[in-house]
Amino acid sequence: MAPVAAVGASKAATKMLATYQAETGRRMQSQSAYRSYATQVSVYNASVRIRGVAATDKIIARPGTSEHQTGWAIDVSALPSNCSLSTCFANTHQGKWLSANAWRFGFLLRYPANKVAVTGYSFEPWHYRFVGPYLTTEMRRTGFTTLEEFFRLPAAPSY
Ligand SMILES: [Zn+2]
Repeated sequence: MAPVAAVGASKAATKMLATYQAETGRRMQSQSAYRSYATQVSVYNASVRIRGVAATDKIIARPGTSEHQTGWAIDVSALPSNCSLSTCFANTHQGKWLSANAWRFGFLLRYPANKVAVTGYSFEPWHYRFVGPYLTTEMRRTGFTTLEEFFRLPAAPSY
């Protein structure tokens, strides 16, 4: 069962996807949202078998550290599927719209292309983190694009 806080994120995500369809006539979908610890273990281990630990740590959170386990993160993909979970998603109509509009619904592009050294993650144009519209509005006003920089936290540690 997802954490209680995820209810707000879920409603905001539903509204964001519905608004996209209403405003553009196109569609997008949730590819992945809440993940249990056990699911994160299987996702992480499957990648390690293919890529090894070093490459996996750049793209998949170790079990216990994934934002998906909080229920506040969503991976969005185009519908029909196009560039799912790939950096080319950024150039799709859906990816561009999210980049420009997700803040309206309280979602933050969590791992921007130019902030890999700050977040510790590769660019993930499909991964959005719910932080609420008050925070996204304030981050937009002040020009911050990562939680680490907004809260003056050190860059993400390596494992
Ligand atoms: Zn994700």
